[in-house]
Amino acid sequence: MSLKRNNILASFRAVVACVTIALAGCAPSAGELVVYSARVEALIKPILDSYTAETGTKVVFVTDDAGPLIERLNAEGANTPADILLTVDAGELWFAAERGLLKPLDSPVLAANIPANLRDPGNRWFGFSLRARTIAYSSARVDPAALSSYADLADPRWHGKLCLRTSKQIYNQSLVAMLIAEFGEARTEEIVRGWVANLATDVFSSDVKLLEAIAAGQCDVGLVNTYYYGRIVREQPEFPVKLFWADQSGSGVHVNVSGAGVTAHARHSAEARKFLEWLSGPEAQGMFAQSNLEFPVSPAVAADPLVASWGPFKQNPINIAKAGELQADAVRLMDRAGYR
Ligand code: FE
Repeated sequence: MSLKRNNILASFRAVVACVTIALAGCAPSAGELVVYSARVEALIKPILDSYTAETGTKVVFVTDDAGPLIERLNAEGANTPADILLTVDAGELWFAAERGLLKPLDSPVLAANIPANLRDPGNRWFGFSLRARTIAYSSARVDPAALSSYADLADPRWHGKLCLRTSKQIYNQSLVAMLIAEFGEARTEEIVRGWVANLATDVFSSDVKLLEAIAAGQCDVGLVNTYYYGRIVREQPEFPVKLFWADQSGSGVHVNVSGAGVTAHARHSAEARKFLEWLSGPEAQGMFAQSNLEFPVSPAVAADPLVASWGPFKQNPINIAKAGELQADAVRLMDRAGYR
């Protein structure tokens, strides 16, 4: 039943995508790029529009979740119209690259603009905006001096005070994968079991709901991507939640990227390269920083003033490819630990 529904959904998506491409001119010609994008359309479209305005290159984009987009790329094989895959998590890019769906791109520009830990060591994908997943706490009920690390949230002191987003969402899978890379499976499982034991309530479907639960007094601490917090405080400066940079005396804050790679069968490889190089440059990096309050990957570009107001922090320097490599282990571990 659910399989059938999935098939119907998949067909529907394919039709929608084909119509999208048809409207834009079904056979892409030179001066065009087709992007399979897992980013929220409203956040990426202004950046693509700027590129078109500057270069004349028409960008056709198909929006869906990364899973279905990767399945499509695989099913379409050499017939895919897609030149670029754009996702919101390094784990998905790693997975696409492992399946042979992305090709290496040796670009001195990308190598210069993007720190080495935020791109594939094999040059098949690159991070273009940085996300930090850290601790959020109630400014009314928590003394930040009591906070330290991701692992510390497993301490019984936080019993009944922790909120978490579902383990089914890739951001937490990547976070746990990075903990495995750092601490090994046994220690990470202890940490995750401690988190589960400390939960104040059932897991949330989104970071925003989690932040609202802290504000509402349902729990005192939680883990979130900072841009969700930024979007709330941009509208409500008095929102009674603050961010704490985790693991500053250890490995540093867990970071991830929204990133992209050139598809293995891209018809517009030269255009795709130019576009990715442009995404790593000052103008696009500034747009990523402002539109969604993410961090630019390029150290040469400043964060939005609101984001900068949260202060500097030490990032975990491990290559984010690890998030992909260890993701299946992370999912199994969270399942064993009862993290729903
Ligand atoms: Fe997100």
